[in-house]
Amino acid sequence: MVKTVTGKVEQEAAGTAFAAPPNNYSFSDRPAKAGNPAAGTVKTITSLANPIIKDLRALALKKHRERERLFIAEGLKLVLEGLELGHKIRYLVYAEGNESGNLAEQAAARSFSAGALVIKANAKIMAAITHRDNAQNIIGVFEQQWYGLEQVLQGRAPRAYAESRPAPPGNKNAAKTVWPRLFLALDRVRDPGNLGTIIRTADAAGVSGLVLVGDTASPFALEAVRATMGSIFAVPLCRLSLPQFLQKIHNFAGQIIGTYLHGGADYRMLPYFEDGKDIMLIMGNEQQGLADSLVQACSALARIPQTGRADSLNLAVSTGIMLYEICRNRLTF
Ligand code: SAM
Repeated sequence: MVKTVTGKVEQEAAGTAFAAPPNNYSFSDRPAKAGNPAAGTVKTITSLANPIIKDLRALALKKHRERERLFIAEGLKLVLEGLELGHKIRYLVYAEGNESGNLAEQAAARSFSAGALVIKANAKIMAAITHRDNAQNIIGVFEQQWYGLEQVLQGRAPRAYAESRPAPPGNKNAAKTVWPRLFLALDRVRDPGNLGTIIRTADAAGVSGLVLVGDTASPFALEAVRATMGSIFAVPLCRLSLPQFLQKIHNFAGQIIGTYLHGGADYRMLPYFEDGKDIMLIMGNEQQGLADSLVQACSALARIPQTGRADSLNLAVSTGIMLYEICRNRLTF
């Protein structure tokens, strides 16, 4: 028996809750599924051949993540962020004897209470699940959270602090200000590192929701989640095909601002949040820029002036510049 967190504790070989699966055993039947009596269990696993570990390793592949609607968050900071923001954790895996032992134990205890299967593993298993040598010594497997565009636009997706931030020092009334909201749409973003960086930046700038349009990289890919540094849990996400998006933003009551290298206005000259209206900022694909139909749908087009030989800016960099210009007057602290 292993003593880690309070509750049911068992060894890999001894536990009856983890008897050999039937031939048709699939990931979704595994013990941490909500409602399964084995949820909220602690288990020690030492073998890479363990079927649960095989399944967790498979989450590096998009098709498995999509099928299971799960993703891996690596490191204590991300795991705590996910728990803190109320995301549903299914598995918590941590390595024995790690430096942040106490905190890892605390995260394990919280995950256990939340109904997750807690797995005590070793460095070899952590490396296998995260597909890298210098793996973090704690990972959480969370449910993917997607919203409909209507939910996001109507403020029914949790993004509490973007719209009701605490008052800056010395300004008691600021908390009462109702801010018009800023949404971000990405047209066919391909690079998961770009996508993760954009999610992190969007979080910092107070974006109320991120729409992924068309065939995009997955925000839940290992590389994307790493690049978000925890913001994956903070920004409501939705995804739509291009025709769906075009149809839905037809009735968007605010400004629709596209970024366009071939003839937009200087981004510093555009009025933002005019008449207190919400903004939907749209960024283009890394290779092809903004689709023509999206260009047509915009109420204004913005261009960031450039000099030198670069023909464009990196997508994540230009998104950061745009978001911070749009929020210039409201990010005061
Ligand atoms: N070859 C593409 C083109 O001609 O549009 C370049 C795409 S650029 C790498 C990817 C996206 O980043 C653009 O669609 C736009 O959203 C944004 N972007 C990059 N540089 C920009 C600039 N100088 N001004 C405005 N947006 C820019």
